[in-house]
Amino acid sequence: MKKVYTHENRMIVFNMKNVLQGEGIETVVVNEFAAGGAGDLPTFDTWPELWIEDETQLAQARSIVQEILSDDGSAARFCRKCGEQNEAAFRVCWNCSNALE
Ligand SMILES: [Zn+2]
Repeated sequence: MKKVYTHENRMIVFNMKNVLQGEGIETVVVNEFAAGGAGDLPTFDTWPELWIEDETQLAQARSIVQEILSDDGSAARFCRKCGEQNEAAFRVCWNCSNALE
């Protein structure tokens, strides 16, 4: 397995997973609950990570992630519920899980 993405916010990692899944790329999230405890300051080591199962899809997965990350924000969607900015490719708000439509 290869790591394709990591972020301190697990909802953003899961959004990335959903986008890749929509492209037919299966991934698993590791460290999902590592950064949990109340009062704990998560370190980079315990950020949730997105790993790809089929390494033949690695290049495709990385280019999709890159495309999302290189978005300059012009296509960003703002959550109607909490007002947070979300990447255009995301389907649910990373902050409150509200559907972005
Ligand atoms: Zn929201």
